[in-house]
Amino acid sequence: MKQESIEIQKLHHFVSGQRVPGTGNRFGDVYNPAFGVITRQVPLAGADEVRQAISVAEEAFPQWMATPVGRRAQLMFNFRDLVRAHIEELAELVSSEHGKTIEDAKGSITRGLEVVEFACGIPQLLKGEYSAGVASGVDSWGMRQPLGVCAGITPFNFPAMVPMWMFPLAIACGNTFVLKPSERDPSCPLRLAELMQEAGLPDGVLNVINGDREAVDALLDDERVQAISFVGSTPVGEYIYHRGTAHNKRVQALCGAKNHMVVMPDADMDQVTDAVLGAAYGSAGERCMAISVVVSVGDEPADRLIEQLIPRLDNLRVGPYTDPGTEMGPVINPAAKERIEGYIDKGVEEGAILVRDGRGIRVPGSENGCFVGATVFDHVTPDMCIYTDEIFGPVLGIVRVRSYDEAVQMISDNPYGNGTAIFTRDGDSAREFCDRVRIGMVGVNVPIPVPLAFHSFGGWKNSLFGDHAMHGPEGIRFYTRLKTITTRWPSGIKEGAVFNFKAGGEH
Ligand code: NAD
Repeated sequence: MKQESIEIQKLHHFVSGQRVPGTGNRFGDVYNPAFGVITRQVPLAGADEVRQAISVAEEAFPQWMATPVGRRAQLMFNFRDLVRAHIEELAELVSSEHGKTIEDAKGSITRGLEVVEFACGIPQLLKGEYSAGVASGVDSWGMRQPLGVCAGITPFNFPAMVPMWMFPLAIACGNTFVLKPSERDPSCPLRLAELMQEAGLPDGVLNVINGDREAVDALLDDERVQAISFVGSTPVGEYIYHRGTAHNKRVQALCGAKNHMVVMPDADMDQVTDAVLGAAYGSAGERCMAISVVVSVGDEPADRLIEQLIPRLDNLRVGPYTDPGTEMGPVINPAAKERIEGYIDKGVEEGAILVRDGRGIRVPGSENGCFVGATVFDHVTPDMCIYTDEIFGPVLGIVRVRSYDEAVQMISDNPYGNGTAIFTRDGDSAREFCDRVRIGMVGVNVPIPVPLAFHSFGGWKNSLFGDHAMHGPEGIRFYTRLKTITTRWPSGIKEGAVFNFKAGGEH
């Protein structure tokens, strides 16, 4: 695939049920990273275009909120069927703009669909609480109501799954939505919005506006937007949290990560090697739950891991998604490749031992592709930037510590707190680890402990700003607010005017 032979397609926004061209003159390049070519251009919305989308969502809200909850659930069932029916097309869109393999793209769409399936149960999830007779003739009940216009800002690494963590639940709860997907791979989220429309969603309930910081700022500053869900890097998430909450919005900002995997001397090393391969190099390490650090308790686990891992990496098939044998694809664009290779240079300068070097990899037929080969550093120490920074690429660091306590302390002290795992056969240390480690999602012999849709997903510390994790029960709480109602009717017992507060039960 050569740049000269490609006709660059101009993308659009999706507002009020229609494809809408951008009205500004700013555009972002969308790459096919497997071949290193620009295939599409995405309009980068200005503030007026964003405000227009918010107006449309605001107008659609009263009617959508009043739509019976069973009908809202039915729409989710329809959408699920449509996504299933279009999974090949959607996976192709993801792989051609992100670079991950088709199977991995399908897996991520399926994980997103699990949230849609959770949202299908919205009548059950929104059932309120009722207490009859809290005082003489007095009943009390609570219900959760939608917020209004909600917005989602999503990262490049899961262009289908992360938007599906947000809009299905927000919409099932009765909100309307403006999605601002990553400008690096926007085609799949645009197509998902069309499928929601096809599923029967009224115009204006889900809108997609493409853009960069200018569009995000317009969402953050507009008082009509009630809540912001963000997934992306820590500096951007922290900014969004502060600017959004300064405008009195509810904000959940799920951010970057540095996920450690502790390997105890008693661990099953075959299981560890398989786990590291998938968790460090799947999706070229561009996952917020990727394992980027192995913490070896004593020297033996590290030595054995390297011995088993290197031959497997030598056989790892790196290539484009168009080759069905590919196990690891490229990183997102040429800038990401340059940044990741820069980290490998720095790791060498800082004195870590480069056991396997992924720089300069050549993939026949994809010579301009944004490939970085699987890389392993040993003897990494916590002061090195390859340890402190989220590299977000196929680069694994091995840190050797003397004791289990040192491992737990190091992980708990890390400013990130998304995921971690311990590999051991000892139930006692596993239990203690789960209890003590200061991280939001913990695996025991499970390298990527992503909770299923009916639980909630979220890290601690600099990996999540705000009070709510995503999907599951926390997602319902985030996209609704509680109203509590107390009733008494004229035929009940009359007390006359009451001037003093009384103990519970005496209204
Ligand atoms: P990013 O922060 O660069 O971009 C995320 C979104 O924010 C995009 O829509 C982008 O347009 C917007 N954005 C970028 N810069 C901005 C700015 N200055 N002001 C306002 N908006 C801005 O993240 P990315 O590179 O697309 O994604 C990778 C990051 O996402 C990694 O750090 C990864 O760990 C994180 N991530 C976290 C989770 C999680 O659940 N914690 C999940 C997936 C990805």
